[in-house]
Parts: sequence; structure tokens; C-alpha cells
Amino acid sequence: MNDQQISDAVAQVLGGYGEAPAVSPEQPSVQTSAPAASSTTPACDPVSDLVASILADAGSAPARKDGPAFVPGSKRCCWQPAPSGPDPLDAILSKALESGIGAKKNGTVAPAMPAATASVTVSDEEATTLGDGVFATMDEAIAAAEQAQRRYLFCSMAARKAFVDGIREVFLDPATLERISVQTVEQTGMGNVAHKIIKNRLAAEKSPGVEDLTTDAASGDGGLTLVEYSPYGVIGAITPTTNPTETIICNSIGMLAAGNAAVFSPHPRAKNVSLLAVKLINRKLASLGAPANLVVTVQAPSIENTNAMMAHPRIRMLVATGGPGIVRTVMSTGKKAIGAGAGNPPVVVDETADIEKAAQDIVNGCSFDNNLPCIAEKEIIAVDQIADYLMACMQKCGAYLVTDRAVVDKLQALVINDKGGPQTSCVGKSAVHLLDKVGITAGDDIKVILIELPKAHPFVQEELMMPILPLVRAPSVDDAIDLAVELEHGNRHTAMMHSTNVRKLTKMAKLIQTTIFVKNGPSYAGIGVGGEGHATFTIAGPTGEGLTSARSFARKRRCVMVEALNVR
Ligand code: NAD
Repeated sequence: MNDQQISDAVAQVLGGYGEAPAVSPEQPSVQTSAPAASSTTPACDPVSDLVASILADAGSAPARKDGPAFVPGSKRCCWQPAPSGPDPLDAILSKALESGIGAKKNGTVAPAMPAATASVTVSDEEATTLGDGVFATMDEAIAAAEQAQRRYLFCSMAARKAFVDGIREVFLDPATLERISVQTVEQTGMGNVAHKIIKNRLAAEKSPGVEDLTTDAASGDGGLTLVEYSPYGVIGAITPTTNPTETIICNSIGMLAAGNAAVFSPHPRAKNVSLLAVKLINRKLASLGAPANLVVTVQAPSIENTNAMMAHPRIRMLVATGGPGIVRTVMSTGKKAIGAGAGNPPVVVDETADIEKAAQDIVNGCSFDNNLPCIAEKEIIAVDQIADYLMACMQKCGAYLVTDRAVVDKLQALVINDKGGPQTSCVGKSAVHLLDKVGITAGDDIKVILIELPKAHPFVQEELMMPILPLVRAPSVDDAIDLAVELEHGNRHTAMMHSTNVRKLTKMAKLIQTTIFVKNGPSYAGIGVGGEGHATFTIAGPTGEGLTSARSFARKRRCVMVEALNVR
């Protein structure tokens, strides 16, 4: 084939596409014979016009003066002279650079991000005063949060990340960790300081941030479609007395990462320390140039204020972390709601388990923060064959075995209230404290009160949130699994199993349907203490989100560019 034949063949193929022969910038002389290379922008390019007009609307930068003579045309194999107007790439690039380095720009909030940020302080006296995110009324708090969220919409993702990292930094400071942990125990009368430090650190360190917000894209001849996680707006978050600061830290990180503002309604019994946490967050965010009042609360948390928050039209989403009552309430508001409710986590031990390790794990998990965590072991179901040996092993690692019926009755009178639930004054108390109340002096090595009981006993049926651990026998592992499913009460919360029988582990996982299922470990491995994976203090069984993270506080939105921006 000679050169002429090749040219003819190329022309013929291109003709099939409805195109003129290719014109390359290296061969400008050919341009004179190619319709696509006329001196004006071809009229056959509506996509370019569309992109240009969108970029013009967005205020793109002036064109480079030394631009290339030829640029790729919108049709296949075609080059065309560069337009003399604005170069869209300049505008896109400069916008990206601006948001990346956080320069200020008229009409937007793209705060500068200091390389090293100063630590913030809030004195105990200041903690409960107005200001720094603390408002006198719920209406004021919500109005301020709404304004903050509007400004926040124009912050870059880099700025969001810096704010979230700032929250982490505040609570990873050892003095702050200790301070909020000590204050929580003092104010609520629940839990123990050492474990609260672990929980608060976990929330600050392992709650997912902006990296949780992945983008889906679909591209093709029809153009480019993005599906992105977008904020709800202002979220109302109700927090429990059992994890007051942990939940504020974890929810603030997730909700702000997703672009929202958060209004907190803390448990009144954890008021001061909750206000302190909100203030610390606000001062840190202010030092980073964030819009003021992204995280707010009221000076006097109460049920009335929680009700006002739930009913407020500006609250777009409700997140309740607490008992069944408040979860039911948020679910009946008609708003988008996440309900993270009660659990009654069973732990099954079968005859194939490493019994000594199971005993240690169960004592450790059950006694973590005096059994306050909703994920903590609340009852053991042991296969009869190993039940006695398991109890003996548990006694060696901190369990006090109660066998005297009279002591069991005394304990029941002490810790169960008139309604059949846990007595608030006993929730989160240590085993030593509870034993002392029924006249038994125990050493500090005692972490758990172990009692063998029938399944109908209130200690087995109720979520006590104190280190009283009933053990129920089952004739076989299959019976134990069935009983565990029954005692979990359909909360879809947490369960544990100690076994080396993979089939039985799988069977239990499938039947119990809990959000967290820990195999051969303590319950706290399920929220990231010693186990892999992210941390959450809002485990949403009732509403189905399960382990919440930033993306749980965002809605999926689709952005469609028709017939453009696909680059394949
Ligand atoms: P709680 O239900 O008494 O209180 C939780 C929050 O709801 C508090 O802020 C409280 O003021 C508010 N509240 C309660 N009743 C209300 C009502 N009628 N009207 C308005 N507000 C109301 O729970 P708690 O004792 O603070 O926390 C322990 C409970 O929370 C346990 O059941 C535990 O399992 C659960 N919890 C669940 C998770 C989870 O992630 N699923 C995490 C922590 C705690």
C-alpha cells in the first residue's frame, strides 16, 4: 500500500464517523483543507459551549495569553484552534489550589489552617456559662447552628478535615482525657475513671472522619454522574448518661465530617461535663477558623429541651443514643431518625472453647467501666459440660461467686427497682461496692459478681449495666445459641461467643443478627479496643444503620453532568 492508498483508507474510515481527516498541530498545513480547523470555533460543538457557559457562570479566570495554537476538538480524531476566550483549566486549577491551602475568598468560608494549633482551655467555672456553643434556649442554639452550617457548606474538605482533627487533638490531650473522665464519674456516679479514659481516647482516635465519605461515579457517553455523601443540615443528638463525653466526641467527629452542625441534648445528670466537652470543641474550632457554633447545646439540659429540639422544624435529623424510651420517641417524630438503643448482650461458651481464656475475656468485658457499655457481657449461657470449670476459672480472674440464695435475694432487692428495671443508684457501680451493700467485704481484685440462675430471673432478662453476671446452663451448644437469641430480645445489638467450632460460630452469627458479634474475645473488641475496625458509641440496631460513622449522618445526592466530563 502506498502513501496515497493509506490516506484514502484513513479518509474512508473517518468518513464513516462523519469526520474530516485528522488534523494535528504538527501539521498545520493540512488545516486549510479540514473543515474542523477553520479560524472560528466550529458550530458543531454544543458541549464546549455548555462547559464554557457553566464555567463562565462560576466566574472562571481569564485565559492564558500564551495558550497553544491547537487543542483537541470535541469530535473524535479532530484538532481545532484554541479558543481565544477563557481557559477553563486555569479556573479549575486555581480553585483547587485555593481550597487546598485554605486561602480566604470573597463570599466563601475557606479558613486558613494554621500548621500548629494552640491548645485550648476552659475552666470549670466557665464550663457552664453561656457562650462557646452554650445557649440559654433551644431556639437560640438551633438558630446559631443553622447559621453555622450554612457557612460550613462553603468550607473545603481540607478545612473539614482540619476541624475534625482539631476535635481529636483536644480530647487526645492526656490532661483533658483525665479531666473529663474524672468529672463524668463524679457527676454521674457511674463507671470508673481508668476505663472512661480508654473510652474517650477511643472515640477521639478511631471515630471515622471525612475519609468515610467516599464518592461513587458513573461515566459514559451520557456524561458523568457523581453520587456523594451530603450533609443533612442541623442534627439533633441526644446523648446518654453512660457514655456522655464519648458520644459527644464520636458524634461531633462524624456529624461534622459529613458537613452538618450538631445540637446536643445531653442527659441532665451529665450536664456539666457535657457542656465542658461542647465548649472545648467550640474553642478549638474557633482557633482553627471554623464557623462559630457548629456544635451547640443548652445551658440547662432537660427533657423539655430535648422535646423542643425534636419538634423544631430546623432539625433535619435526630440521633438518639439511649434507652428504649427515647429511641421509640425519635422514631415516632416523622423525621429521619437514628435510634441507638439498649442491648442485653449474651455470651455463649461451648465445650470446644479455650475455657481459661474465655473466663478472662468475660470478666474483663463485663467489668469494663463497671458494665456500663451497652455492648458489655450481660449474661453467660454455658454448655453444661464446661459450666463448672468456666465458673472456677472465672473465680481465679476476679469473679466473686454467690451461691447463697439469701444473698441473691438481697442483691435483687438492692438493684432492681419497682418497675423491674435497674435501680439508677446501682447502675455503673463496682462489684466491690454492690457486695458491700449486701454485707460482703471483697478485695479490690473482685471485678464481677457471678451467680448461676434460671433464665427467667430479672438479672438474666434485664439490662442491668452493673457487674452482676448471671450464668445460665444449656444442655448443648445449639440450645445455648437458641437461648442467647431469646435473651438478646431482638435488640440487634451485641453478642459474644467462645468456641472453636466454626460451624457453631457461624450458626450463632446468622441466627442472632446482632450489629456486633465478637468471637473469642471480650465485648469491647467489638468497638475497636483490641479488635480491628473503627470505633462508634452510637450502635443503631433499631433503625438499622448498625455501626454508625460519618456516612450515617449524610444523605446520598446525585450530581449529573450530561454528555460531558467523561474522559474515556
Ligand atoms: P436514657 O434513655 O435514660 O437517656 C438517654 C437520653 O435520652 C438522655 O439524654 C435523656 O435525657 C434522654 N431521655 C430519656 N428519656 C427521655 C424522654 N422521655 N424525653 C426526652 N428525653 C429523654 O438512657 P441512659 O441511662 O442515659 O443510657 C443508658 C441506655 O442507653 C442503655 O439502655 C444503653 O444500652 C443505651 N445505650 C445505647 C448505646 C448504643 O449505641 N446503642 C450507647 C450507649 C447507651
